[in-house]
Amino acid sequence: MKIFNLGSINADYFYRLPHLPQAGETLASIGYDRGLGGKGANQSVACARAGAEIRHLGAIGSEGRWMVERMEDAGVDCTQVVIVREASGHAIIYVDQAAENTIVIHPGANRAIPDTVLDDALDQAEEGDLLILQNETCLQVEAAQLAAERGVFVIYSAAPFDEAAVRAVLPYVSLLIVNEGEAKALCESFGVALPEMPVKQIVVTKGAQGATWHNLETGGLIVMPAFPVKPVDTTGAGDTFAGYLAAGLAEGASRERAMRLAAAAAALKVTRAGTADAIPARQEVEDFLE
Ligand code: ATP
Repeated sequence: MKIFNLGSINADYFYRLPHLPQAGETLASIGYDRGLGGKGANQSVACARAGAEIRHLGAIGSEGRWMVERMEDAGVDCTQVVIVREASGHAIIYVDQAAENTIVIHPGANRAIPDTVLDDALDQAEEGDLLILQNETCLQVEAAQLAAERGVFVIYSAAPFDEAAVRAVLPYVSLLIVNEGEAKALCESFGVALPEMPVKQIVVTKGAQGATWHNLETGGLIVMPAFPVKPVDTTGAGDTFAGYLAAGLAEGASRERAMRLAAAAAALKVTRAGTADAIPARQEVEDFLE
């Protein structure tokens, strides 16, 4: 089965600073780095590293071609990533000597994906294929609706949490993935406990406490403890988990097996610094599970 991912592509620009800037202050950085980021791009890279056939749907500005090259190097099909007039989505990340940070995100091209991208890509979707969505792009509702009509399994990673978006997308969702904070916000905004949410399947990730799969149709529960590792950098753990979970399901693995693959891949990720570049390859994950 193929995976489609309507997802954000962000450039992460890191500036190391002697201290976080005050209002009106001009400050020279003492270190600079840039990396590929955005929840969507991270999840697509995770799918590709897991060995899935993954096609990314998204948009960048003309200065963002390097990000597409990195995604393609990882094995992501980017033929449906288009170049638009807006600047590429990016995050400006200031980090001080004590590792405190402040982050400014400009969504840019991620919110300017033309709807022709959906039609072109999802025209080729077949029953049983998967579509992944998050809240960092536009067109989630349209994509979810088109996909659901075609019998595509819709996975919605409802992050960053956005109540209006969740309410609009949820009717078309096959599997909702949230972290603990998002699960709490979701239950508060719907005024119900998790088992009463209007969706069939929910996966809740809980950092070092592992993850649970709640089958709301049958009341079934899969508990997947986290693998004990020494954490170095947990950014991207959730995206690694979601990408590997989707890849496992796409290859026909059981839900238990897909959860185990996802937990192992995310555990390996947290032992490494970085996001997209630090997502492990399938063989590393299989070796870790032996
Ligand atoms: P992020 O926003 O940083 O990507 P998240 O909040 O979406 O993360 P988490 O729930 O923190 O997602 O983590 C996702 C999964 O990654 C967990 O369910 C677990 O399997 C794995 N994981 C996260 N932190 C650890 C850890 N310290 N040790 C082992 N596994 C971890």
